[in-house]
Amino acid sequence: MPETSAIYPGSFDPITNGHVDIIERGLRVFDRVVVAVLKNPKKRPLFTTKERVRMIHEIFASRSEVEVRAFDGLLVDFARSQGTGVVIRGLRAVSDFEYEFQMALMNHSLAPDIETFFMMPSVDYTFLSSSMVREIAELGGPIEGLVPGPVARKLRDRIRGAKKVQIP
Ligand code: ADP
Repeated sequence: MPETSAIYPGSFDPITNGHVDIIERGLRVFDRVVVAVLKNPKKRPLFTTKERVRMIHEIFASRSEVEVRAFDGLLVDFARSQGTGVVIRGLRAVSDFEYEFQMALMNHSLAPDIETFFMMPSVDYTFLSSSMVREIAELGGPIEGLVPGPVARKLRDRIRGAKKVQIP
C-alpha cells in the first residue's frame, strides 16, 4: 500500500498539548504527518520560526513519522511540495468553526485536489490555545499540563528575559 501523509499547519507559538494530541491522532490515520510551522514575522511571535521548529523536533525526536518544516506562502502549494493532498486542522469548539470552514473552502477553491481533515482533541484540551498559554505564563500562572515540559521551561525563560528588558 502507498504511504499516506498529511500536513498539519499552524503558528505553534508555542506548541501546546492540544497540538500534540492532534498530531498523535493524525498518526493513527496517516503514516506520516508533516508539521508545518508558519513563518509569520509580521505577527511578532514570541518564539522565532527556528525555535518553534526546534521545540517540535525535540518533542517528537523518537517519532520518525513526524516531520517538521517551516513554510510561508500558500498552504496548498506547500502541501503539494510535500507530496501530500491532506491538510489536518484541529477543531476545539464551535468558535473555531467559522474561520476553519472559510479557510477549508478557500483552499478547496484554490486547489480542489487538497482535502481538509478536521480532528477534535481530547476534551481536556478544548479550551487550550497558544495565546492563552502565553498569557498564563506572562501572569506567572501554572502552565504544566498545558504544554510539554521542555516548552514550559523555554516559555518561562523567554518571559523572564522579556521582563528583565522591560524593568530598568
Ligand atoms: P492557535 O489557534 O492556538 O494560535 P495554531 O495557529 O498553532 O494555534 O493552530 C494550528 C491548528 O491547531 C488549528 O487548526 C487550530 O485550530 C488547532 N489547535 C490549536 N490548539 C488546539 C487544541 N488545543 N486542540 C485542538 N486543536 C488545536
